[in-house]
Amino acid sequence: MTYVVTEACINCKYMDCVEVCPVDCFYEGENMLVINPNECIDCGVCEPECPAEAILPDTEDGLEEWLEINTKFSETWPNITVKGTQPDDADDWKDKEGKKELLSENPGSGD
Ligand code: SF4
Ligand code: SF4
Repeated sequence: MTYVVTEACINCKYMDCVEVCPVDCFYEGENMLVINPNECIDCGVCEPECPAEAILPDTEDGLEEWLEINTKFSETWPNITVKGTQPDDADDWKDKEGKKELLSENPGSGD
């Protein structure tokens, strides 16, 4: 089991999650974060920190695709451990659905 970041994170990036992870296993893309499933210790402390409710345990149904996305991009995107500045329009995107097609494969800047 692991926790995964899902669609709700796209274009939000509040990054409250990265500050609490004890093993620093978040990785930054251009418009979302992912968790490295091989590094996550399943502690669950990040889940309630996410205002977008984007972090879920992979034991929930229908998350196979997001587990793949987290696994794939955590291998190439840079590690992020410190909360950055959230985009000005983050609140506008928070509750939008159907954002998956907006997912950018480009890496973020990390820290
Ligand atoms: S707090 Fe939630 S929406 Fe923000 S970066 Fe972390 S997972 Fe994404
Ligand atoms: S569940 Fe724990 S170890 Fe896994 S990403 Fe969240 S804070 Fe980090």
